[in-house]
Amino acid sequence: MQKDEVLKVVLSSPALPTLPAIASKLISITSKPETDISEIANLLSKDIALSAKVLKIANSAFYSFSSKISTVHQAVSNMGKNAIRSLVLSVSFLEIKTNEKNECFRHEKFWQKSLSAAVAATLIMSEIDKSDPEEIFTAALLQDIGELIVMRTFPEQYEQVLRTLSETQKEVLEVEEQFIGANHTFVGHEVARNWGFPTGLLIPIQYHHDPDGWPGNDKKMKIATKVVYLSGLIANILSAFRPQENHKHFVERSKTMLGFNEKIIDGIMEKVHSGIIETATFFDIPVESPKPVELILQEANIALSLINLSYEQINKELISAKIELQKLTKDLELQNKRLEKLAHIDGLTEVYNHRYLQNFLEIEIRRSLRSQIPVSLILLDIDHFKIFNDNYGHQTGDFILKEMCRLVKKTIRDYDIVARYGGEEFAIVLVETAQKDAIKIAENLRQLIATNIFIDGVKDYKVTASFGVATVQPINKEFKNSDLIDFADKALYESKKKGRNRVSAYTQKRRWF
Ligand code: GH3
Ligand code: MG
Ligand code: MG
Repeated sequence: MQKDEVLKVVLSSPALPTLPAIASKLISITSKPETDISEIANLLSKDIALSAKVLKIANSAFYSFSSKISTVHQAVSNMGKNAIRSLVLSVSFLEIKTNEKNECFRHEKFWQKSLSAAVAATLIMSEIDKSDPEEIFTAALLQDIGELIVMRTFPEQYEQVLRTLSETQKEVLEVEEQFIGANHTFVGHEVARNWGFPTGLLIPIQYHHDPDGWPGNDKKMKIATKVVYLSGLIANILSAFRPQENHKHFVERSKTMLGFNEKIIDGIMEKVHSGIIETATFFDIPVESPKPVELILQEANIALSLINLSYEQINKELISAKIELQKLTKDLELQNKRLEKLAHIDGLTEVYNHRYLQNFLEIEIRRSLRSQIPVSLILLDIDHFKIFNDNYGHQTGDFILKEMCRLVKKTIRDYDIVARYGGEEFAIVLVETAQKDAIKIAENLRQLIATNIFIDGVKDYKVTASFGVATVQPINKEFKNSDLIDFADKALYESKKKGRNRVSAYTQKRRWF
């Protein structure tokens, strides 16, 4: 088939993924300069699932905005039109569904590769220009959209492409042209153009295998295309496709194209693995935990060194290789544990996040139900914090939140936890603790905070906080986290109502819980 015939088949194929209606409408309205922020926010709000995702990502460490973004309107105005468009495209792309069971495996690998490229591109770009990370993230994520389309439209030929790539040293584009008649950069570009994608995405899709081939002059676009190309090399390493060769190319080309040195390159290689795990959780997509670059290269080296050896030599090599791999795997496990912990921690205050709190509470409530030993919850809310921010600025407010958490963490027992319940409200779970002890602990914390002088090197500050304590010893399996939180919240409200800077406990005479 000729290129154009391939395109005709692709465009009329039922296997062609469709772009969700909201994403395509968004592309068309964001390309008009007169579109304002509320128009975009209104459009997004029509899709509740999408809005929820955008808010979740906007509030994740991916953006690290200092305060909580709670409405779509706020997200659009904080992030800007282009960033929102990129984000929605990324989310929509990652949600393209597979339509057949046997496609799943390929698709998973494909998402994983795309996400690796997107994370790698963001890391590479952060060494050059930190201005809009989401644009490069999306461009790299979508670079191989043509591959997805070809894979779905011509599944059999695509199998042949993959087989040939694994058995020979031929280049991807060449093999695609041989078996399909057109390569994925051409198909991807044409389909994306059809969908009305902005130029900033079209050019990297078309030139990501030949970044010097783009004839245009726009400096920013030139860099973006190079970054996307380089991100593809890292994604190849991570999916163990010709890892050594791709690693060598990356090292050489990132030096000549972007002037990188060894230190920058090593930094990127080290960060990419954890970046993928983190980003996958923000986007809620299941990816297999990738191996670090170092481990992949090591394995490839071992495989290479085994060729041409005698049987005894191979045996010997294998034993030492196994030992080496065991060590690396152990390191990896440790590293993954650290990452898992990171996913439970609030980025600003470094105490546990809301999700972790809910899990922990559930476990403790169940334990209390079994053991019939009470569990207590303290809710802590800083007093008049809005005024504090207005007086001293949000950054100073952030400093207070961090310092206060440090104080609380230092004070509570090892087996209790403190978590950020939201904004300037924190929850402390006191394991196996009766009400009178919980009140004592809350009172200690209250005094500690009220008497502490917070010093940030510029000024001294003082704050107070109000506390609500609730203790339960549930006898009913139906008792929920939200019941306990509700009790503590009522007590906290009492403290606020009575004038703040005090501790109140929830007392309910009739024990139904
Ligand atoms: P109250 O004594 O009734 O609790 O008054 P308040 O002003 O503390 O309570 P309100 O709920 O009216 O406002 C909460 C404030 O906390 C407003 C918001 O700006 C601030 N806040 C929430 N999260 C953060 C944050 O991450 N950093 C900073 N600096 N401020 C935050
Ligand atoms: Mg490609
Ligand atoms: Mg408050």
